[in-house]
Amino acid sequence: METDNATYTQIWDRVLIWIKPNLNDDSVYATFFQGSYIDRIEGNTIYAVANTGLAKEVLSKNYGELVSSAVLKTTGTNFKVVFMSEEERSQKAKIQEEEPVFFPDSRLNPNYTFANFVVGASNREAYQAALMIARNPGKLYSPLLIYSDSGLGKTHLLHAIGNSIHENKPNLNVLYTSAADFVDEYVRYARGDKDKDGNSLVSYFSKSVDVFLVDDIQFLVGKKGTMESFFVVFSKLYEQGKQIVITSDQHPNRLDGLDQRLKTRFIQGLTLAIIPPDLPTSEEILRSRIAQSGLNADDFDPDVFTFLAQHFSSSVRELEEALNRLLFYTVSICQVKHVTLDVAKDAVSGLLKEQGNQGKLCEARIISTVADYYNLSPSQLTGKIRTSQIALARHIAMYLMRTLMDDQYAKIGEAMGGRDHATVMSAVQKVEKSLRDDELLQKAVSELTLRLTK
Ligand code: ADP
Ligand code: MG
Repeated sequence: METDNATYTQIWDRVLIWIKPNLNDDSVYATFFQGSYIDRIEGNTIYAVANTGLAKEVLSKNYGELVSSAVLKTTGTNFKVVFMSEEERSQKAKIQEEEPVFFPDSRLNPNYTFANFVVGASNREAYQAALMIARNPGKLYSPLLIYSDSGLGKTHLLHAIGNSIHENKPNLNVLYTSAADFVDEYVRYARGDKDKDGNSLVSYFSKSVDVFLVDDIQFLVGKKGTMESFFVVFSKLYEQGKQIVITSDQHPNRLDGLDQRLKTRFIQGLTLAIIPPDLPTSEEILRSRIAQSGLNADDFDPDVFTFLAQHFSSSVRELEEALNRLLFYTVSICQVKHVTLDVAKDAVSGLLKEQGNQGKLCEARIISTVADYYNLSPSQLTGKIRTSQIALARHIAMYLMRTLMDDQYAKIGEAMGGRDHATVMSAVQKVEKSLRDDELLQKAVSELTLRLTK
């Protein structure tokens, strides 16, 4: 959601139009509501400015509920509304001008390291390149671009590079971000800052980032303003000889809608693919996971590993899911000390059925398929945290439940973690409307429909 002041004005106008007749008192409206406006929307919160300090108090204390329901009615979203006075707004703006904090939420995940990455034929080149870069950031290939289907270790390798540099070259600043977060950050920056050519974002990067790790670059596709800004940032870092590593779910040349200049830049360094693991690698990943969980691989019949590898190797994520299912089953359901092939078959029979039962649709499958497509966990999709990427994925999931399963809004709301009828309806309508001219959305919906109905 790339939002600007005009959109804020539209939203707030609709809220005020709804509030006015519900107040039954025109003088209250004129005194306290008139002249208020939205300063910004961050996540699930609308920050609105009231016309005086007193109006701020009155609106927050006496009319908070009315405002919230007006916002819900007119936007379909359960925003929290925080009022502030004009003084508070300008103080806040001043602080932000002095020290812009970019990417406050970005963190390296310490669990993803080179040491626990299992190397096999399918990922060897990507692993070697990542390792070399971690040892000599900025000196070999920039950018390194790794692409693969989902669940094959791209994110793991990015964090491994970051963790290794962090440990061995602590004076270098590493920034890990998903392209989806870059989009959000760009929107935040573009809204708060008057400087249209991206100067403050670029100067942040050129001063504060030595190693730039960008995950899932496919999420830039179609975001024109963000691509422009990304190009400037990328070129600047490149000129400065800094290390850039990018991942994508496809070769950049196949990312329709990605700016041609970005395609050219992305593949001017080193471009490598990861493919699904072969059987020996899959088995080794299983053994390594078992060791990491503090268990002993000798407690498993060797054909258990072969069986799991044969059935769940299209992605490592799937393989891990099957193993987790098995561990859960052996610990809490049949409580065996030694795991045989029969136990393993029983434990994962549900997963196998899901695979074989592709025709059977249910809400849970829509949730997990959409979550997987956007690299989210199912609980993020049904949870409360809101970034533009999560919100979009959520809307699409609700839309698919409506169109593919013909579900009632209330049923969808329940499946989506307890959302109300109005929220679901508005999400479905939003998707229907955007589908008319948003090619990226059309592509996502048709790809997901294919995955869910094949
Ligand atoms: P992607 O980013 O390509 O979708 P991830 O990096 O998120 O995939 O990997 C999915 C899961 O599989 C993660 O838990 C990751 O640690 C694990 N994984 C992937 N490849 C390997 C590997 N070669 N060795 C060990 N774990 C792996
Ligand atoms: Mg990933």
